[in-house]
Amino acid sequence: MKDLKFIHKFPVILLLLMVFCFSIGSESIGKSSDYASARKRMVLYQILHRKITDQNVLNAMGSVFRHDFVQEAYKKKAYEDRPLPIGYGQTISQPYIVALMTQLLNIDKESRVLEIGTGSGYQAAVLARIAKEVYTIEIIKPLHDRSNKILNRTGYQNIRTLNADGYFGWKAQAPFDAIIVTCASDFIPPPLIDQLKKGGLMCIPVGPPFKIQHLILVKKGKTGDITTQVIASVRFVPLTREGE
Ligand code: SAH
Repeated sequence: MKDLKFIHKFPVILLLLMVFCFSIGSESIGKSSDYASARKRMVLYQILHRKITDQNVLNAMGSVFRHDFVQEAYKKKAYEDRPLPIGYGQTISQPYIVALMTQLLNIDKESRVLEIGTGSGYQAAVLARIAKEVYTIEIIKPLHDRSNKILNRTGYQNIRTLNADGYFGWKAQAPFDAIIVTCASDFIPPPLIDQLKKGGLMCIPVGPPFKIQHLILVKKGKTGDITTQVIASVRFVPLTREGE
């Protein structure tokens, strides 16, 4: 009799189990579709509306999961129009700035790109969607470790990372078609100029720490001549040197 009672309850238990599983499943789908629509809005209102028109950049910004690169507490704000803290006093740049700098580099699937300031790894991931190879250097070891983990988990095969002072660039891998510096320096580090290919482009914020800086586009001509162009006023965390 006892056994029979259990058999009677079995369909109810099964039903409850199915409802439970379905609710878990639909919750996670709901979340990722929230991120997907937030990302679509980000591309449309923050990027396309501000005249970023390079289709490669729009595709990359639309496909990299920015919420994977921010800390748990900020995930819901991942697609907002602003930078966010990533720990150790550093920030992941505002989406528009990431898109603007990426567009300025004029890269394609043949390009080898050097980034100074891996931070969260987000900018490297955006570059990796467009370029052939991305080399990225981070001076803060725990940030280097964390971004490595995220980039491995999310499956980027064409990114190489280094924990070092990016002031010196990455000589063994030079020259680069493009260099992007995502921390502000008082001057353009000469080793980075040296490691830029002839005909290459570098994008770097130049100016004093925590004051208004200028985003500079540096062009190395076919003969090695250097020209610079001021693009915008920006505010980046400073490029620090080892031992600072
Ligand atoms: N590109 C990053 C933004 C990082 S903020 C992203 O997408 O999240 C700038 C980063 O530059 C910080 O992580 C900081 O630690 C790093 N940095 C500062 N000085 C550096 C240096 N000399 N060499 C390498 N990285 C440096």
